[in-house]
Parts: sequence; structure tokens; C-alpha cells
Amino acid sequence: MIRYCSRCLFPETKPDLAFDDRGVCSACNYLAQRKEVDWDARRAELERILERYRHRDGSNYDCVVPSSGGKDSHFQVIKMLEMGMNPLVVTSTTCALSGIGRRNIENLKGLGVDCVEVTMNPRVRRRINRFALTNIGDISWPEHVTIFTVPIHIAVKFNVPLIIWGENSQNEYGGPAAAAENNALSRRWLEEFGGLLGLRVTDMIGQEGIGARDLILYTYPEDQELQRARTTGLFLGHYLPWDGLQNAMIAQSRGFESMPGFVEGSLANYENLDNHQTGIHDYFKYLKYGFGRATDIANLFIRRGRLTRGDALEMVRLHDGRFPWIYLGKPIEATLSEIGMTLEQFQAVCDRYTNKKLFQADAKGRLVKRPDGSPRKINDDNP
Ligand SMILES: [Zn+2]
Repeated sequence: MIRYCSRCLFPETKPDLAFDDRGVCSACNYLAQRKEVDWDARRAELERILERYRHRDGSNYDCVVPSSGGKDSHFQVIKMLEMGMNPLVVTSTTCALSGIGRRNIENLKGLGVDCVEVTMNPRVRRRINRFALTNIGDISWPEHVTIFTVPIHIAVKFNVPLIIWGENSQNEYGGPAAAAENNALSRRWLEEFGGLLGLRVTDMIGQEGIGARDLILYTYPEDQELQRARTTGLFLGHYLPWDGLQNAMIAQSRGFESMPGFVEGSLANYENLDNHQTGIHDYFKYLKYGFGRATDIANLFIRRGRLTRGDALEMVRLHDGRFPWIYLGKPIEATLSEIGMTLEQFQAVCDRYTNKKLFQADAKGRLVKRPDGSPRKINDDNP
């Protein structure tokens, strides 16, 4: 049996999640604590920090804002402009950029900022996609690395010390208390919580014909470079109330585009719109840990009182962990062919990463599949 949080729908199998003696998960407890935060004081603290980094003479940018072009990036940029900062926006393009993702990147530039857009060699990147999917069950590993490393590289090159990150995912989604209280992002944070799943960048050297020369932007800058540029970062979510739906509404009011309906496998139409591979990424989370993106979104809504746990559970039963036949309108066969993989090969990798303790099997030990081809969980709620 899988045990679930008594307040939200996270299973105990989620990495870095702890339960208290009432059966409430750490992600729920963090949000409850955040209601106690003095946000006026936090905002004043942010103003003081920004003031230290402002170039009143216009000689350089005041901060770097790492941006995917998504709703949160829009929020970060809008807030920095409101607070009188002159940001350099840095976009590290996703592994398989969608049309709507491209339009939102362009919309964000139109807010009135300079933007550096960096695209890693797509031939190398697709080989890494396939290697990471096959060897650690995460197609999106190159993206998880470069959304952190590329803005730091650019900040160092432009001598802009302050990097304005968005939310601390360990705070929003739960995790060890020390990391959740950390408001800066460091090499250690990246290695521990950045979702690298034990695959280090140096491990890629020699795989699939990849050499160090292909991994320059994937590699975290040297400590002495960071010290010379005095690079530091903060999580904006520590200083301003952070809420995905709020950020989406603010972004939409400034031209950000959402999907007409829920994104496949999710319960929202305003996030994860920029990468056709994300459906595969989220599906593997379901296979490994028994929950997908629909659960993540449902939980955010439960914690903020927008959905009851019961209604959310019914929605999750309909949408979570569905086989990603289509993502953002693109068939999976097309996404897989770009990384040199057939549907049959993909399904074999899926079965290999399916956690047999979480899913039903028949008398012969074969996984019981739902009509869409995804495995059926042993239990999707506490008894
Ligand atoms: Zn919970």
C-alpha cells in the first residue's frame, strides 16, 4: 500500500518528502508556515538588497533574470521592472521548444528588456536526451542542468553579480528544512536538489561520442570565476508571495498566452507549455514515484483552498500519469524520432523504470495497464 498525505495527495514515495505525526507532508506544512510570514518586511528586505546592486549611472545591468518565457519568468521580470531594476534576461531554450513557448519568449522580450537567448548544440542535446532517458529515466536532464548553469555563465561574463531566481522548489514542493530556508542558489543546491538524479555533467564525457568541448555550458563555472564576479543569487519567492495561478494571471494581463484547455496530464493550462518532451518527463515521475503533474497542481490548489481533497482526487484519477501519446498537440512518435528512439524502444524503457511496488500486476507478474497504456496504481488514496 502507498501512504498519502492526509491533507494533499502526495505519496510517501516522493523524494525528500517527510510526514509529521498527523500524516501531513512537509510541503503542506511549509505552505502553512508561509501564511505567517511578514511579507511587508520581506519586501522591504528585498528593496534593500536590490538597492545595493543598482547601477544608477546605467553602466551595467542590475541583475540577471533567468527566464524560460513562462508565467513565473514573466512575474519575475514584471516585478524587477516595477522595482526600478534594469535586468538582463537570460533564456536557455528548452529541449524541444513549442510554438506557444516561442511566442511567450517573444512576449516577454516585449515587456521591454534586453535578452540573451542561448541554445545548446541540438545534435549533442538529443544524444544527451536519449542517454539520460535510458540511463536515469529522465529525458529532461540537459534542461534541468542548463536552466541553472547558463544564467550563471552569462552573469559571470557580463559581470552582473545578482541573479534573481524564481521559487525555491524545495519550499513550494517540500524538502529538508535547511534547503527550504536557503534563499540563495548554490552549486551544492543544484547538485542536491536540482533534479540531476546522480548523473553528473562529467559523467557524460565519453558517452555517445560526447566530449568536454560539448559540455561547456552544461558545466557549472569555476569557483574562482564566481568569486571574481561576486556572483550571488536569491529566490524571489522568498521575498514576494509566490503562487503559480497569481503569476499566470499577472502574466496573462501582459500578453502571456495559455492553452485553451488543460495541458495533457496536468490540471492547468498556464504552465509547462514550452517543451514537447515534458509529457515524457512527467510520465516517468509517475512510473517511478506514483504521481505526475496533475497531482502537483491539485496539491497546490488544495493547500490554497481552491479545491477540496475529494474533488482533487477525482480530477487526479482522470488526468494523472496518462501515457503521453500527445503533448502540446505533438504526437509522441514525432518527439521520440527526434532523439532517435522508436515507440517500442520507449515502451521498453518505461517498463524498466516502472516501480513494481506501486503498480498492480496480474498473476504472472505482468503490469496491469489502463486503457491508455499506463500502469494502474495499487491504491490512489489512503484506505
Ligand atoms: Zn501534503
